[in-house]
Amino acid sequence: MRRIGVTGAAGRMGRTVIETAGDREDVAVVFAVDATDEEKVADKPIHEPDDVAALLATHEPDAIVDFSVPEATVAFADACAEAGVALVTGTTGFEDDQLDSLKSASEDVAVLKAANFARGIQALLATVRAAAGALPGYDVELTETHHNKKQDAPSGTAKTLLEALAEEREEDFEEVYGREGIDPREAGEIGVHVRRAGDVRGEHELMFAGNDEVLTLSHRAEDRGVFAAGALDAAVWLADRDPGLYTFGDVIEG
Ligand code: NAD
Repeated sequence: MRRIGVTGAAGRMGRTVIETAGDREDVAVVFAVDATDEEKVADKPIHEPDDVAALLATHEPDAIVDFSVPEATVAFADACAEAGVALVTGTTGFEDDQLDSLKSASEDVAVLKAANFARGIQALLATVRAAAGALPGYDVELTETHHNKKQDAPSGTAKTLLEALAEEREEDFEEVYGREGIDPREAGEIGVHVRRAGDVRGEHELMFAGNDEVLTLSHRAEDRGVFAAGALDAAVWLADRDPGLYTFGDVIEG
């Protein structure tokens, strides 16, 4: 049984993580943290973000599972590094300096960051790499759709897919997909289309178009439970790891 703390606990994903953990026998939520006025989520009291260091010392969890906002995640990563506790984060929208902070924390403890904890997205990434290799020169257009409360755009998953494409084509990401001074994911040669509507959990579609043919690859998350299950699997896997920065692909590959 792994003991986990949940940060961003009152959010859409944090709640789902707590609910999903309640149905599993390999994890137990030992504390919940959020910057909210709510006092409880499920049967878990909500603690203030400033209490994290004390909660880590008192409850000695195996890992924190975090779905919050980038600035909070960075603070939680620092606290985890100080306390020697692993961190799994699904938060997206990090700036470069915030990513550097996560990397620093990973020198002291195991940190796993994933923009998408759905196993189907890992399969999509592998398929996209294969398609990019097999279809050189084809135009690629990426469309992502999420609920209308999502803070960042394009999605972290869209960026991960674009990075996989660039890597597979052995092209310099900035040069090929963007113009100087403009976010390459917004203004590059690959069209990136962002849609925000209703309560859509997350859809990603890539179209590879050549002369006289079109290949379409797509993934749709139907319930937030798929992300929560993946994040909890990641926490169980990460608890025994050495310090370092890990991906969800590492969990799937074992
Ligand atoms: P949300 O807005 O519903 O939840 C975020 C929670 O963080 C809120 O409850 C908010 O009060 C809390 N928060 C804000 N500042 C905080 C602080 N300083 N300390 C503690 N808590 C704080 O958002 P969501 O839909 O749950 O998504 C959260 C993040 O997870 C987003 O970045 C989203 O893109 C990402 N996400 C990732 C995956 C994945 O599989 N990796 C899946 C879904 C969402």
